[in-house]
Amino acid sequence: MNSEIKHTKKVPARRLFFAIWPDAALSRRLDELAGAVKKQAGGRVQKRENIHLTLRFIGAVDAETEQCLVEAAATIRAEKMQLNLDTLGFWPRPRVAWIAPGQPPAALAELAAKLEALCVACGIEAESRAFAPHITLLRKVRAVQRMPEFSPLIWPVDEFVLALSETLQEGVRYTVLQRWSLV
Ligand code: ATP
Ligand code: MG
Repeated sequence: MNSEIKHTKKVPARRLFFAIWPDAALSRRLDELAGAVKKQAGGRVQKRENIHLTLRFIGAVDAETEQCLVEAAATIRAEKMQLNLDTLGFWPRPRVAWIAPGQPPAALAELAAKLEALCVACGIEAESRAFAPHITLLRKVRAVQRMPEFSPLIWPVDEFVLALSETLQEGVRYTVLQRWSLV
Protein backbone atom coordinates (compact mmCIF):
# COMPACT_ATOMS: atom_id res chain seq x y z
CA MET A 1 0.00 0.00 0.00
CA ASN A 2 1.13 3.48 -0.70
CA SER A 3 2.26 4.89 2.61
CA GLU A 4 2.78 8.32 1.19
CA ILE A 5 -0.29 10.26 2.06
CA LYS A 6 -0.37 13.75 0.75
CA HIS A 7 -1.14 16.18 3.51
CA THR A 8 -1.98 19.14 1.38
CA LYS A 9 -3.03 21.83 3.76
CA LYS A 10 -5.95 23.50 2.11
CA VAL A 11 -5.45 27.24 2.49
CA PRO A 12 -8.65 29.09 1.66
CA ALA A 13 -8.47 31.30 -1.42
CA ARG A 14 -8.19 35.01 -0.81
CA ARG A 15 -10.10 37.65 -2.72
CA LEU A 16 -7.59 40.19 -4.03
CA PHE A 17 -7.31 43.29 -6.18
CA PHE A 18 -4.66 45.76 -7.29
CA ALA A 19 -5.46 49.37 -6.48
CA ILE A 20 -4.19 52.79 -5.66
CA TRP A 21 -5.02 54.01 -2.20
CA PRO A 22 -5.43 57.65 -1.14
CA ASP A 23 -3.57 58.87 1.93
CA ALA A 24 -5.49 59.87 5.05
CA ALA A 25 -5.89 63.52 4.03
CA LEU A 26 -7.30 62.72 0.59
CA SER A 27 -9.52 59.95 1.99
CA ARG A 28 -10.98 62.50 4.39
CA ARG A 29 -11.76 64.91 1.55
CA LEU A 30 -13.28 62.13 -0.55
CA ASP A 31 -15.36 61.07 2.44
CA GLU A 32 -16.62 64.64 2.82
CA LEU A 33 -17.48 64.73 -0.86
CA ALA A 34 -19.32 61.40 -0.53
CA GLY A 35 -21.35 62.99 2.26
CA ALA A 36 -22.25 65.91 0.00
CA VAL A 37 -23.29 63.56 -2.82
CA LYS A 38 -25.37 61.54 -0.35
CA LYS A 39 -27.36 64.67 0.51
CA GLN A 40 -28.41 64.98 -3.14
CA ALA A 41 -28.53 61.37 -4.21
CA GLY A 42 -29.01 59.18 -1.14
CA GLY A 43 -27.29 55.82 -0.98
CA ARG A 44 -24.69 54.43 1.39
CA VAL A 45 -21.26 56.00 1.66
CA GLN A 46 -18.19 53.88 1.18
CA LYS A 47 -16.38 53.66 4.52
CA ARG A 48 -13.54 56.19 4.57
CA GLU A 49 -10.84 53.60 5.14
CA ASN A 50 -12.18 51.57 2.19
CA ILE A 51 -11.94 54.37 -0.40
CA HIS A 52 -9.67 53.35 -3.30
CA LEU A 53 -9.34 53.11 -7.07
CA THR A 54 -9.22 49.56 -8.42
CA LEU A 55 -6.55 48.97 -11.07
CA ARG A 56 -7.26 45.27 -11.58
CA PHE A 57 -9.80 43.11 -9.83
CA ILE A 58 -8.33 39.62 -9.34
CA GLY A 59 -10.90 37.64 -7.38
CA ALA A 60 -10.29 34.62 -5.18
CA VAL A 61 -6.91 32.98 -5.73
CA ASP A 62 -4.85 30.32 -3.95
CA ALA A 63 -1.63 31.03 -2.05
CA GLU A 64 0.56 29.98 -4.95
CA THR A 65 -1.10 32.43 -7.31
CA GLU A 66 -0.92 35.16 -4.69
CA GLN A 67 2.81 34.50 -4.39
CA CYS A 68 3.18 34.74 -8.16
CA LEU A 69 1.33 38.08 -8.18
CA VAL A 70 3.49 39.49 -5.38
CA GLU A 71 6.73 38.46 -7.04
CA ALA A 72 5.65 39.79 -10.42
CA ALA A 73 4.38 43.07 -8.98
CA ALA A 74 7.84 43.75 -7.57
CA THR A 75 9.25 43.75 -11.11
CA ILE A 76 6.82 46.36 -12.44
CA ARG A 77 8.27 49.69 -13.48
CA ALA A 78 5.60 52.28 -14.05
CA GLU A 79 5.49 56.04 -13.84
CA LYS A 80 4.28 58.24 -11.02
CA MET A 81 1.34 60.39 -11.96
CA GLN A 82 -1.15 62.96 -10.82
CA LEU A 83 -4.85 62.37 -11.09
CA ASN A 84 -7.20 65.30 -11.32
CA LEU A 85 -10.39 64.02 -9.72
CA ASP A 86 -12.80 66.40 -11.39
CA THR A 87 -15.75 64.28 -12.48
CA LEU A 88 -18.63 62.96 -10.39
CA GLY A 89 -20.79 60.30 -11.95
CA PHE A 90 -23.43 57.65 -11.38
CA TRP A 91 -23.87 54.19 -12.89
CA PRO A 92 -27.51 53.14 -12.51
CA ARG A 93 -27.05 49.39 -12.90
CA PRO A 94 -24.54 48.82 -10.09
CA ARG A 95 -26.21 51.86 -8.42
CA VAL A 96 -22.84 53.37 -7.67
CA ALA A 97 -21.88 57.04 -7.45
CA TRP A 98 -18.21 57.74 -8.11
CA ILE A 99 -15.52 60.29 -8.71
CA ALA A 100 -12.96 59.92 -11.47
CA PRO A 101 -10.28 61.77 -13.36
CA GLY A 102 -12.05 63.14 -16.44
CA GLN A 103 -8.79 63.08 -18.41
CA PRO A 104 -6.65 60.36 -16.83
CA PRO A 105 -2.96 60.50 -17.71
CA ALA A 106 -1.65 57.74 -20.00
CA ALA A 107 0.42 56.47 -17.06
CA LEU A 108 -2.73 55.22 -15.33
CA ALA A 109 -3.84 53.00 -18.22
CA GLU A 110 -0.22 51.88 -18.67
CA LEU A 111 -0.04 50.77 -15.05
CA ALA A 112 -3.36 48.94 -15.38
CA ALA A 113 -2.14 47.25 -18.58
CA LYS A 114 1.03 46.06 -16.84
CA LEU A 115 -1.05 44.61 -14.02
CA GLU A 116 -3.36 42.94 -16.53
CA ALA A 117 -0.39 41.25 -18.21
CA LEU A 118 1.00 40.21 -14.84
CA CYS A 119 -2.30 38.64 -13.81
CA VAL A 120 -2.52 36.67 -17.04
CA ALA A 121 1.11 35.54 -16.58
CA CYS A 122 0.11 34.21 -13.15
CA GLY A 123 -2.71 32.19 -14.66
CA ILE A 124 -5.67 34.48 -14.05
CA GLU A 125 -8.26 34.79 -16.75
CA ALA A 126 -7.90 37.90 -18.92
CA GLU A 127 -10.20 40.84 -18.18
CA SER A 128 -12.63 41.36 -21.02
CA ARG A 129 -14.03 44.68 -19.86
CA ALA A 130 -12.29 47.97 -20.57
CA PHE A 131 -10.51 49.67 -17.68
CA ALA A 132 -12.86 52.34 -16.29
CA PRO A 133 -10.92 54.10 -13.53
CA HIS A 134 -13.20 55.41 -10.78
CA ILE A 135 -13.45 55.72 -7.03
CA THR A 136 -16.72 54.43 -5.62
CA LEU A 137 -18.11 56.96 -3.16
CA LEU A 138 -21.62 55.57 -2.58
CA ARG A 139 -23.50 52.36 -3.20
CA LYS A 140 -27.21 51.63 -3.42
CA VAL A 141 -27.86 54.97 -5.09
CA ARG A 142 -31.26 54.90 -6.78
CA ALA A 143 -31.14 58.03 -8.90
CA VAL A 144 -29.17 61.24 -9.14
CA GLN A 145 -31.00 64.44 -10.03
CA ARG A 146 -27.97 66.63 -9.51
CA MET A 147 -24.47 66.47 -8.13
CA PRO A 148 -23.06 68.93 -5.59
CA GLU A 149 -20.69 71.73 -6.53
CA PHE A 150 -17.17 70.73 -5.64
CA SER A 151 -13.54 71.62 -6.21
CA PRO A 152 -11.49 69.03 -8.12
CA LEU A 153 -9.04 67.07 -5.98
CA ILE A 154 -5.47 66.50 -7.09
CA TRP A 155 -4.11 63.05 -6.27
CA PRO A 156 -0.36 62.55 -6.58
CA VAL A 157 0.06 58.78 -7.05
CA ASP A 158 3.45 57.31 -6.21
CA GLU A 159 2.63 53.70 -5.36
CA PHE A 160 0.20 50.91 -6.10
CA VAL A 161 -1.00 48.20 -3.73
CA LEU A 162 -2.31 44.66 -3.52
CA ALA A 163 -5.43 44.58 -1.35
CA LEU A 164 -7.43 41.84 0.33
CA SER A 165 -11.24 41.98 0.28
CA GLU A 166 -13.10 40.24 3.10
CA THR A 167 -16.81 40.15 3.71
CA LEU A 168 -17.48 40.31 7.43
CA GLN A 169 -20.71 40.57 9.38
CA GLU A 170 -20.22 44.31 9.70
CA GLY A 171 -19.56 44.70 5.99
CA VAL A 172 -16.70 44.52 3.53
CA ARG A 173 -13.18 45.16 4.80
CA TYR A 174 -10.23 45.94 2.57
CA THR A 175 -6.69 45.45 3.82
CA VAL A 176 -3.60 46.66 1.97
CA LEU A 177 -1.25 43.66 1.87
CA GLN A 178 1.73 45.13 0.01
CA ARG A 179 2.79 48.41 -1.59
CA TRP A 180 5.14 49.06 -4.51
CA SER A 181 6.61 52.38 -5.55
CA LEU A 182 6.13 53.97 -8.93
CA VAL A 183 9.20 55.54 -10.51
P1 ATP B 1 -19.25 43.41 -2.58
O1 ATP B 1 -18.87 42.68 -3.85
O2 ATP B 1 -19.33 42.51 -1.40
O3 ATP B 1 -20.39 44.34 -2.75
P2 ATP B 1 -17.07 45.15 -3.11
O4 ATP B 1 -17.56 45.19 -4.53
O5 ATP B 1 -16.79 46.42 -2.42
O6 ATP B 1 -18.03 44.35 -2.19
P3 ATP B 1 -15.11 43.35 -4.07
O7 ATP B 1 -16.19 42.71 -4.90
O8 ATP B 1 -14.16 42.47 -3.35
O9 ATP B 1 -15.75 44.31 -3.00
O10 ATP B 1 -14.31 44.32 -5.01
C1 ATP B 1 -13.10 44.91 -4.67
C2 ATP B 1 -12.84 46.02 -5.65
O11 ATP B 1 -12.78 45.48 -6.98
C3 ATP B 1 -13.94 47.07 -5.71
O12 ATP B 1 -13.35 48.31 -6.05
C4 ATP B 1 -14.82 46.60 -6.83
O13 ATP B 1 -15.51 47.67 -7.45
C5 ATP B 1 -13.81 46.01 -7.79
N1 ATP B 1 -14.38 44.93 -8.57
C6 ATP B 1 -15.09 43.88 -8.12
N2 ATP B 1 -15.43 43.03 -9.09
C7 ATP B 1 -14.92 43.56 -10.23
C8 ATP B 1 -14.92 43.14 -11.60
N3 ATP B 1 -15.50 42.04 -12.00
N4 ATP B 1 -14.27 43.94 -12.48
C9 ATP B 1 -13.67 45.06 -12.09
N5 ATP B 1 -13.62 45.50 -10.82
C10 ATP B 1 -14.25 44.76 -9.91
MG1 MG C 1 -18.06 43.45 -5.70
